[in-house]
Amino acid sequence: MEFKAFLIKYGEIGIKGKNRHLFEDALVKQIRHGLKHVEGQFEVTKEQGRIYVECLSDYDYEETVTALQRVFGIVGICPVVHVEDEGFEELGRQVIQYMKEMYGDSPKTFKVNARRARKNYPMNSMEINSELGGKILDAMEYMKVDVHKPEILLHVEIRQKIYIYSEILPGPGGMPVGTNGKAMLLLSGGIDSPVAGYMVAKRGVKIDAVYFHAPPYTSERAKQKVIDLAKQVAKYAGPVYLHVVNFTDIQMYIYDKCPHEELTIIMRRYMMKIAEHFAYETKCLGLVTGESIGQVASQTMHSLLCTNEICTLPVFRPLIGMDKQEIVERAEQIGTFETSILPYEDCCTTFVAKHPVTKPNLNVIKRSETRLEEKIDQMVEEAIRTTEVMIAE
Ligand code: ATP
Ligand code: MG
Repeated sequence: MEFKAFLIKYGEIGIKGKNRHLFEDALVKQIRHGLKHVEGQFEVTKEQGRIYVECLSDYDYEETVTALQRVFGIVGICPVVHVEDEGFEELGRQVIQYMKEMYGDSPKTFKVNARRARKNYPMNSMEINSELGGKILDAMEYMKVDVHKPEILLHVEIRQKIYIYSEILPGPGGMPVGTNGKAMLLLSGGIDSPVAGYMVAKRGVKIDAVYFHAPPYTSERAKQKVIDLAKQVAKYAGPVYLHVVNFTDIQMYIYDKCPHEELTIIMRRYMMKIAEHFAYETKCLGLVTGESIGQVASQTMHSLLCTNEICTLPVFRPLIGMDKQEIVERAEQIGTFETSILPYEDCCTTFVAKHPVTKPNLNVIKRSETRLEEKIDQMVEEAIRTTEVMIAE
């Protein structure tokens, strides 16, 4: 079957009034972006409350559907066949051919649902429904009409051309990226943070990212891995501005001055602080991390209290209640898992204490941090100043 277009279905709830235009325009933009890397020429149009992807050249069907299935805001993708308007008799023949090609000779129930986007068509919708239904029954006697719960809902839309479709492939749901502000993702090379970025982007939030790199303790390969993860997140979230912060000096300084069992917490607090600097600078409305309660020592409720305390922006932790296995499944589904498990070192594991505190006390942590007073502000400034920004897309 040769599909010449896709009708894009999107959720209607909560997009009334002015929001509707913003939602639709953002969706069109994201669809165009998503199709950029797909071979073929496409035109994305919005008319009368519908979004169509018209295929203007040869294209790869599977690749196109996969790309559309990554665009948040889409709930369904209907592959459409175009036929020229060459009179009703001809339309009847085309519809029967469509039904035969799509469903072969397996008995099914169906209902025709005609819609006239062009009101000068000589028949009204009711007439088209019953006439086409009759023609299908004559040609395919094993089919039955069911107007309440048909197995096949055959849509026939009369436009300049006539559009025929009946299949709906699932979309990812969510809201188009760009409809809900922007957030700064703390992106490590692990399994969790890319999934966290995906989940926030799914709610329409644009994502920028920050990665704390600690050469020579973390290698170029570890950095490349994070860039690759950012690119994978960008397939859903659109281009991601990735800030690569050189964190070595700060990490070493904390290691020298503070109790080793508090290293991870204190380091995490400085990560948050620096991430927040870039968040404000780029007009992000919050931070995002891949933390989940109790997963490791630095993610107990006590530890989260300590890392949270340093931030003034809200910190979103979309994985907070998920088990590792659930996160792994999501990582596999969105295509980040393979990269995440590459065995390159992370700056958190390089200096990690054998017995990190699991119930840090904020006052104790703050007292330890006073030992950093001499140089830390200057080091944070230096880290910010030397940060490298790249676009992952
Ligand atoms: P992940 O799989 O996301 O690395 P993790 O289980 O390894 O998570 P931690 O190392 O405790 O957990 O990190 C918790 C969160 O802190 C991460 O999800 C991420 O958001 C952030 N984070 C940790 N290390 C870095 C880093 N080097 N650069 C940027 N963010 C980081
Ligand atoms: Mg990690």
